[in-house]
Amino acid sequence: MDYDVIVVGAGPAGASAAYWLGEAGKRVLVLEKERTPRYKPCGGGVPKAVLARFPFDFSPVVEREIGRARFRFRDGREVVADLPGHPVVMVMRDRFDYHILRHARAEVREGDPVVALQQDESGVDVTTKSGETFRGRYLIGADGANSRVARLAGLRRGKRMGSTIEVEVAASDGLMAEYGDAAFFLLGAVPQGYLWIFPKAKHLSVGAGTFLGKAPGLREVLRREMGRLGIEMEGAPWRGHPLPVYLRHEVLHRGRIVLTGDAAGLVDPLLGEGVRHAVESGQMAAEAVLTDDPAGYTRQVHRGIGNDLRWGLRWARLFYNHPWICFELGVRNPRFLEEFPRLFAGQTTYRAMALRAPLNLLIGLWQRRPATSNKQQSNGR
Ligand SMILES: Cc1cc2nc3c(=O)[nH]c(=O)nc-3n(C[C@H](O)[C@H](O)[C@H](O)COP(=O)(O)OP(=O)(O)OC[C@H]3O[C@@H](n4cnc5c(N)ncnc54)[C@H](O)[C@@H]3O)c2cc1C
Repeated sequence: MDYDVIVVGAGPAGASAAYWLGEAGKRVLVLEKERTPRYKPCGGGVPKAVLARFPFDFSPVVEREIGRARFRFRDGREVVADLPGHPVVMVMRDRFDYHILRHARAEVREGDPVVALQQDESGVDVTTKSGETFRGRYLIGADGANSRVARLAGLRRGKRMGSTIEVEVAASDGLMAEYGDAAFFLLGAVPQGYLWIFPKAKHLSVGAGTFLGKAPGLREVLRREMGRLGIEMEGAPWRGHPLPVYLRHEVLHRGRIVLTGDAAGLVDPLLGEGVRHAVESGQMAAEAVLTDDPAGYTRQVHRGIGNDLRWGLRWARLFYNHPWICFELGVRNPRFLEEFPRLFAGQTTYRAMALRAPLNLLIGLWQRRPATSNKQQSNGR
């Protein structure tokens, strides 16, 4: 046997799995299609609790800490919420993912996609485009939204994807002064989704996403709405990427193959957040391999991630089908907004939020935040 484990994909899911397996003394090979560090379209908003899972320091790759969230409805009304303890940091995914990978005791082969695999009772043979074949006792599929491993293993057949588009925009001092200290969300401008502005060290990541499968016109909406906010995107590359949201419990293993992160469809259906569950499932996959229990992995993901994402899906249906009412009764209600830092920190769940919702709704009605009207759109330059 060449390796104990072969990991396909060096994003947060694959790099985390490789890290924990390497720490446990396993012989690990990571196969990555691109050359690392590689760009990944992503807002790059990551809860600090995710970083705290690792025993090493992430400060070299943190671009900004965020202390506020701004929610603007399409009619110009805006609510600003403080995020005590700055629970979310902003990263660029090329540097963030590479930072985890760099700490993993694993052999990495890059610039060569996996194209075929074959498994038998004792292991899995993995072949790359260049024609090399490697054998491992287990295979972890961490190859993202369009996972080839899932396809080749016959898993995730009924998957449905959201659509996103993102642009990295060079920002003047004026734009950074306007958008540099908060995660900004524009609600109600695209069906079943939102637009975002996430500040990085010296630029803004702006994008639009919808949890609907097809999204004609997403690019035009993004250009128009960002133009209104004073953000021009001419000259910067536009990148589209699918978003594999969690819709139902699925089998995530076949024999000695397990799927993690986006390959397993673990994106939060309300927020579009996926790095947290990529890292978590990467660690769960490592544990499953260490205990020779791939079937236990599927159960563990359902229990530890999927059960609550199903509650997230209920919240998403409510929120995106009734954005105006939810802006009035939810976003303006501090009792609801205060739940999210705790959600990011792993101190509450979507289910617990649902149980508290009637009380939060009632009490929060009397505490509703004023929504300042920003019909006169800002021009931060
Ligand atoms: C526009 C956008 C904005 C987002 N914003 C956020 C956000 O702010 N916060 C957040 O938490 N989540 C966000 N997400 C979700 C997040 O980006 C993903 O959930 C996360 O990247 C999943 O990590 P992963 O390791 O599973 O997959 P990926 O990060 O996609 O990594 C998969 C890796 O596999 C490699 N690969 C693919 N095919 C092969 C192959 N055949 N052989 C070898 N290697 C292969 C790829 O090159 C890639 O490096 C966003 C997503 C999008 C699209």
